[in-house]
Amino acid sequence: MKIGVVGLGHVGLVTALVLADQGNMILGIDKDKKKIDMLSKGRPTLYEPGIEDLLNKNIKRFRLSISCELLSDAEVIFIIVPTPTINKSIDLTYINEALEEVSRFNKKAIIVVKSTVVPGTAKLLSERFGIKIVSNPEFTREGTAIEDTKHPDRIVIGGTDKNTLDMVESVWAFTGVPVIKTNNENAELIKYASNAFLATKISFINEIANLCEKLPGCDVDVVAEGMGLDHRIAAYFLKAGLGWGGSCFPKDTIAIVSFARDHKEKLSIIEAAIKVNQERIERTMELAKRHLGGKLKGRRIGILGISFKNDTDDVRGSQSVKLIERLVKEGAEVSVYDPVAKLETYEKQGLYKSQEECIKRSDLIIIATEWRDFSDIDKIAKGKKIIDTRRVINSVSNDIVPIGIGRLDES
Ligand code: NAD
Repeated sequence: MKIGVVGLGHVGLVTALVLADQGNMILGIDKDKKKIDMLSKGRPTLYEPGIEDLLNKNIKRFRLSISCELLSDAEVIFIIVPTPTINKSIDLTYINEALEEVSRFNKKAIIVVKSTVVPGTAKLLSERFGIKIVSNPEFTREGTAIEDTKHPDRIVIGGTDKNTLDMVESVWAFTGVPVIKTNNENAELIKYASNAFLATKISFINEIANLCEKLPGCDVDVVAEGMGLDHRIAAYFLKAGLGWGGSCFPKDTIAIVSFARDHKEKLSIIEAAIKVNQERIERTMELAKRHLGGKLKGRRIGILGISFKNDTDDVRGSQSVKLIERLVKEGAEVSVYDPVAKLETYEKQGLYKSQEECIKRSDLIIIATEWRDFSDIDKIAKGKKIIDTRRVINSVSNDIVPIGIGRLDES
C-alpha cells in the first residue's frame, strides 16, 4: 500500500518504519525540515533501540517531504502530530493544520488519526473538513516502541464506515492481535482510559510505598511482587519510584479530567492519581534533605538519568527534570549524567558530567531513571549515599548506602 504518515516524531517515525518493513511504500511528512533532511540521509532523529537499523533497512521504501503534496496518491494517511494539553484542555492546532494541508492534496485517502484526542474529536474534524476519519489510537511505550508496534496487545479502530475500518484493519493484519472495531468515540476514550488507568496504577503503588516507609519490615518492592503475581492485578506499572512522567500520562490525565468536568463529571480517582504523582518530587526532596543534614543549599547532588524513562532520549514531562529544577531552586549544586538524553539548558549551565565524575563529586546520588547502566554503580560509588528511586542497583555491597523509597529509612 501507499501509506502517508504526517508527523514523524516518536510515534510517527516508528509507525512509518514498521509499516515500511511490512513492504508498504511510505510517504512521510514532517514540517520540521531538519528532521526530513536527517531521515533522508538515514540518520534517526530520536533515540529508540533498533531505530537506525530499521531506518536504513527500509530507506528505499521511504519518500520524505515537508509538503503534503507528496501525499496526492496515498491510499491511507496517518495523522500523528502532537496534541498537547494547554490550559488543561486538549489543543488541536497541529491536527487542524495537518488536516487542512492534507485535504488540499488528497480528498480520497482514508484519514486515520493516531494522535491521542478526546472523545468527539474525530466527529468534529470530520464535520470541519468534510471527510471521514478513522480513529486508531496508539499504545506503544517509548524505549520499546518498535517491538510494541510490531507486537501490540490489541489494535483499536474506530469509525463510521465498515469498508474504511476493514481497510485500516488490513494495514495492521500482520500483527495478528485482537482488533476492536468500534465507533470513533469509544476508540478515543479507550486511549485515555488506558493511560489514566496505568498512571493510576503507578500512583497506587507509590501510595503503598509511602505507607511502607512508616512500617518497620515492609518493603514496597516485595509487596508489589506479591501483588503482581495475581493475574487480576499483574506486575506491570506496579513499581514505586519517582512517579510517572513523559509526553503522555501527564497531559492525558489532565486533559481527561478537565474534559470530564466539562461534561459535569468528576474523575476523582484520576485526580487523586495526579496529586499523588505531584507529591513524589517533594517527598524525594525531603528524603534528600534528611540525608544531607537538613539542608540542600550548597550540597552537591548527582542526578543519574534525566529522560522520563530508560531507553529513550525523551525528557518531556520527566520527573527527573522536575526534581533537578527544584533542587537547583533550593540552592543545591547539581551535576547530571544520562547515557543518552541531553538538555541544552543543562549543557549551557555546565551541569553535565561523566558518570564517574558525577558520582565522585557528589555528597548524595539520586538515580532518577531506570537505565541498565546504573545497575552496578556500586563499584564506583563506594561509601556514597544513594537514593535509588528506581531500585536499579543490583547488588547492595556494604560500601554504598542505598536509601530506599518504599521502605523504612533507618539510617
Ligand atoms: P512528537 O512531538 O514526538 O512528534 C510529532 C511530530 O509531528 C514532530 O516531528 C512535528 O514536527 C510534527 N508535526 C507537527 N505538526 C505537523 C504538521 N502540521 N505537519 C507535519 N508534521 C507536523 O509527538 P509524539 O510523541 O510522536 O506524539 C504524537 C501523538 O501520539 C500525540 O497525540 C501523542 O499523545 C500520541 N502518543 C504518543 C506516544 C508516545 O509514546 N510518545 C504514545 C502513544 C500516543
